[in-house]
Amino acid sequence: MSKKIKFIILALAVSATSFAGKLNVVTTTSDLASITEIVAGDLAKVSSICSGNQDPHHLQARPRYVMMARNADLWIRTGMDLEIGWEMPVIDGSRNRKIRPGNPGHLDVSTQIHKLDIPDASMLSRAMGDVHSQGNPHYLIDPENAKHAAQDIAERLAQLDPKNADTYRNNAGAFIDRIDKRMEEWKEQMEPLKGKSIVTYHRSWLYFCERFGLTIAIELEPKPGIPPSPTHLTRVIETVQADEIKLILQEPWYSTKAADRVAEKTGARVVTAPTYTGSDPDADNYIALIDLIVKRLTE
Ligand SMILES: [Zn+2]
Repeated sequence: MSKKIKFIILALAVSATSFAGKLNVVTTTSDLASITEIVAGDLAKVSSICSGNQDPHHLQARPRYVMMARNADLWIRTGMDLEIGWEMPVIDGSRNRKIRPGNPGHLDVSTQIHKLDIPDASMLSRAMGDVHSQGNPHYLIDPENAKHAAQDIAERLAQLDPKNADTYRNNAGAFIDRIDKRMEEWKEQMEPLKGKSIVTYHRSWLYFCERFGLTIAIELEPKPGIPPSPTHLTRVIETVQADEIKLILQEPWYSTKAADRVAEKTGARVVTAPTYTGSDPDADNYIALIDLIVKRLTE
């Protein structure tokens, strides 16, 4: 056997052993992947199904996602129907029983949070559009909810890997401390916007606006998941003029055509900001994401 081949075999053996002890965590969205990476450090291999540039409402289940799910020890989801269109086809396709709902390898981090926009039964008709029946699932954009998620993730990792339980809990604790510290700064930076009304494209900014004292006067979507119609845009323009709204906020994956039209008629400013980590080089982790949103809104 040549030296080179011996070396390759040795290298493969070493990488296989160093990898063997690690938990394989798959998250549905990139914000959850970032929080999990912070909590797990180098004790887990973490990957996300959705990249930061993909709208998690409208993902197509692909063979690649099924392959990711197949080897997962832990599957973490936002829940509240955010991933309803594609999550179960991916889990079913993976034939990985560990990560099925109800098993320890399946974690829904929405259980501890204070949920907003829970519709009453009479609202749950088809006519409402793509309504999330369990409430608004865009809760991770509020840093206080990211703290709950970190805690839940640490506890579940501790359950699956008890020998490293202290590390997971300590890492989550450090993350929570960092959020608490940064929250003071974010609130200070957002102070000039407090009490102001804004327009958003989708109802994905609700938890963020509640946290920092902004009001969403109207969305560009007439109903969740339905693109802006000319009639609805007229209503938006009237609202912006009546309430003297200065800001229209939306995610990068929506066209700015409707927002630009409203801006043209009213002089409001269109701001594009990501809601998920990894969608912008400046938002490569959860704290950087909130930093970037605050910066875009206040500059
Ligand atoms: Zn939504």
